[in-house]
Amino acid sequence: MQAVFALLFIFLVVAWTLSLYLVWDGTAADEVKASGFLQSWKQQAIWVLPFLMLLVWAIYRLVYAALIGPLLKITHSMKHVISSQYPALGRDRDHLSPGLKLLQQYFVRLKQLTKHDPLTGLNNRVIFEERLQQSVLEGRRSGRKYALVFIDIDDFHSVNHDCGPYIGDGLLRQLARRLSNGLRESDTLARLEEDNFALLLEYSDEDRLTSLVGKIYQYLTRSYTVYGRKVKIGVSVGVALYPDHGQDAEALALKADVALLASQKGDWPVEFYKPSSGEAESSVFSLVQSLVQALEKSEFKLVFQPVMDLKSHNTSYFEALLRWKDPEQHDHPIERTIDLAEKNQLIKPLTNWIIESACQQLQQLAHSRVKIAVNLSMIDLHDKQLPQRIEQTLQQSGVSASQLLIEITEGQIMQEPEKVIGILNHLSDMGISLLIDDFGTGQASLTYLRKLPVAKIKIDQSFVKDMVSNEEDSTIVEATIRLAHTLGIEVVAEGVESSEIHDMLINMGCDYVQGYYISHPLEHDQIINWCDQQQALTAS
Ligand code: C2E
Ligand code: MG
Ligand code: MG
Repeated sequence: MQAVFALLFIFLVVAWTLSLYLVWDGTAADEVKASGFLQSWKQQAIWVLPFLMLLVWAIYRLVYAALIGPLLKITHSMKHVISSQYPALGRDRDHLSPGLKLLQQYFVRLKQLTKHDPLTGLNNRVIFEERLQQSVLEGRRSGRKYALVFIDIDDFHSVNHDCGPYIGDGLLRQLARRLSNGLRESDTLARLEEDNFALLLEYSDEDRLTSLVGKIYQYLTRSYTVYGRKVKIGVSVGVALYPDHGQDAEALALKADVALLASQKGDWPVEFYKPSSGEAESSVFSLVQSLVQALEKSEFKLVFQPVMDLKSHNTSYFEALLRWKDPEQHDHPIERTIDLAEKNQLIKPLTNWIIESACQQLQQLAHSRVKIAVNLSMIDLHDKQLPQRIEQTLQQSGVSASQLLIEITEGQIMQEPEKVIGILNHLSDMGISLLIDDFGTGQASLTYLRKLPVAKIKIDQSFVKDMVSNEEDSTIVEATIRLAHTLGIEVVAEGVESSEIHDMLINMGCDYVQGYYISHPLEHDQIINWCDQQQALTAS
C-alpha cells in the first residue's frame, strides 16, 4: 500500500516539474534561461517537495483511517475465524497485499463456512434444511417422492475417547466420503452435527429404496482404516418418506428422528418410520422439548433418600434423586427422562446441574458429616473434563470431596470397564467414593470389581424386595454380602420395604440399607429435620 503512495508522490513531483518547466520556458528571461532550469527547480523544490510529501502523507492517513484500517481489521478478524476452520489459510500473509485478493479469498471461504461443514466439506444443517424445504415444495408441485435418511454413528464418543479426536475426525471424513460415493446429483447429503449425517434421496420405488438404504448401511459399517488404525463402527439409520410420513419439512424430520431413535433402541439398525408409532413420536418429541426447557428454566429438583448405617444407626449418606418440580406436567418416569437426556446430548448439562445442586445442598447443611451420592450415567464417565468440573464445583461451594459419592450402575460400568477405569481412579484419588449401583443386574463378578476403585456395592432391589418369600434371592444376597466383605467392599441393600427384610439383612451382616421402610426420598428442606431426629435418636 505504501508503494501506491510513493508512486503518487513521484507522480506529483513529475507533474509539478513539468508545469514548472512550461511556466519557466514561457516567462523566463534569456539571462535566467542561461542559468538553467535545474537551478530554478532546486530553488523551488526546497519548499515544494516537503509540501508535496506532507500532502501525500495527509492523503495516506485519511485513506488509511477511512478505508485501509477498517479493511485490515475485517481481514484479520475473518482470517481468525477462517484459520480456525481451515488451518492452511492461517499461513497466509498478514498484510493486505496483494491488494484485496486476500480479502476476496476470505469472503469466498466465509461463504463456504456458512454453507459447508469445514471438517467433511459436506453441506451443513442450514443448507440441508433449505434443500429439504425446497424438495417438499417441489414434491407438492410435481408429485415427486423423497426419503429423508438420518444416520448416527453408534457410540461415537468411544471412538474419540479410545483413539483420540484426530482419528475421530478422520473417521468422520471417511464416512462422509463413503456416503458421497454413488450419490446422484439430485441427492443431498449433509453433516448435521458431530456424528449425525442426513441424506435426502428422491425415489420412485420403495423396494429399491429399501435395498439402497440397506446397501448404504452395509457400506458404512465396513471397517475403516484411519491413519493406519483399524476402526470398526456401528451406525443407526432412521428413514421417513415424503409424502407418506410427513407433509412438510419439520414433520418429516421429526419422523426420521423417531425412526432413528427406534433403530438405536431396537434390534434393527435400519428403521423406516412406522405410522403406528405416532403416539411414541409425539411423546418423544414433547419429552425432549420439555427436557431442554426444564434445563433452561430449572424445572428439576433433587430429592434425597437416606441410606442407613446398620451398625451405628446413623445416616451414612443421602442419595440425590432427580425429580420434576411439577410432576403433574410430566408423567414420564425419571429413568425415561434420563435415558432421553443421554440420547440427546443433554446428559452433560443435566449432570452438571445435579452435581452443583448436590454441592449447594451440602453447603447449606454446613455439616461435615453429611454426605450425598449422585447417580452418574456412563456417558458422564466418558467426559474427560468431569473430574475437573467436579473439583471446581467442590471448591466453589467449599465442600470436601469426601462428602460426595458417585453411584454408577453395574450394567453401565460393565459395558466398557477398561475405558472408564482412568476416570474412576481420578475421581477416587480426589477423595470421592465410588459405589456400584443395582448390583446383580449386570455381568460383573465381584473379583473383577476389585480392579476398580469401588468402596461399596448396592444390591439391586429386585433381589432384596422378595427376600422373605424367595429363598433363592435371600441366598444370593447373603452370598454377595459375604464375598464382598472378604474382598473388603461394603454392601448396601436397596428397596428395603419391611421390618422383616431389614432384620434379615442385619442378620446377614449387611452394612447399609435404603428403602421405603427407612424413608421415602426427602425434600431438601426435610433433611435438616431428618438429621436432627437421627441425632436425638442416637443420643437417647
Ligand atoms: P437407583 O439409583 O437405583 O435409585 C433407586 C430408585 O429406587 C429410586 O427411583 C428410588 O426412588 C427407588 N426406591 C428407593 N427405595 C425404594 C423402595 O423401598 N422400594 C421401591 N420400590 N423403590 C425404591 P427413581 O428415583 O425413580 O430412580 C430410578 C433410577 O433413575 C435410579 O435408580 C437411577 O438409576 C436413575 N436416576 C435417578 N436420579 C438420577 C440422577 O440424578 N442422575 C442419573 N444419572 N440417574 C438418576
Ligand atoms: Mg442410585
Ligand atoms: Mg439402584
